[in-house]
Amino acid sequence: MRLVPPIIIAVTAGVACLVFMLCSQSRAEKSSDDRVVVLTFDDSVVSHATYVSPLLQEYGFGATFFITEGFEFLVDKKHYMTWEQIQLLDTAGFEIGNHTRNHTPVSKQTIEQFTADLEHIEQQCEKYGITRPSSFCYPSYKTSEAAVSVLKERGYRFARAGGARAFDPAVDDPLILPQAFDGKPESTLEQFKAAVDQARDGKVAVMTFHGVPDIKHPWVNTDPEKFEQYLEYLKTEGVRVIALRDLDEALESN
Ligand SMILES: [Zn+2]
Repeated sequence: MRLVPPIIIAVTAGVACLVFMLCSQSRAEKSSDDRVVVLTFDDSVVSHATYVSPLLQEYGFGATFFITEGFEFLVDKKHYMTWEQIQLLDTAGFEIGNHTRNHTPVSKQTIEQFTADLEHIEQQCEKYGITRPSSFCYPSYKTSEAAVSVLKERGYRFARAGGARAFDPAVDDPLILPQAFDGKPESTLEQFKAAVDQARDGKVAVMTFHGVPDIKHPWVNTDPEKFEQYLEYLKTEGVRVIALRDLDEALESN
């Protein structure tokens, strides 16, 4: 019986190993590269700090928190975050986005009023050592051409509006970016799955949530139990879950 020289065995094993590594790598990339989901949370609700942030950290998911001092933010610290809590979200690696000082629809504002509201949140971020916002969210989902120009001038990269479809970077203006899902009390896991499923062929599903729960805005409440089902689905599907500011990088790597 002829013995196979050790060098041949070593080379064969090496090639097999390389092929295996390349295959597993492409499988791993495949499971995450198909679908990119952005999670966004509006209106500075206290449950963002007390419940959403720790849970997202457990899952290793990114997210954007859109901060406004509107509603009763300044007087009701039981239901709205403090700036110290917002600072901790930034420190934890989440994105802090600008949702204006007063939560007035931009379509009802002059350029000066809008700029002042935008600047106020930027200054508060600076005061608390929070990364300067590069993402914006239109209050009440109302947009205006003038607001888009102001956002562009001030270096904003993404601005989320309303809607019910995935963002298509090939055709959509990133400063009037649609949401694919708007978390409401009546929203279902099936609707969430359908929104996630739209994140294909280079499109991105941007999800909107308010409080989890949201005591002060019950019409946009999401129950914690339902929210965990959404996150569990994203995890089991191997979806890449990021903040809005990380979108360019995520699209480039796809
Ligand atoms: Zn809002």
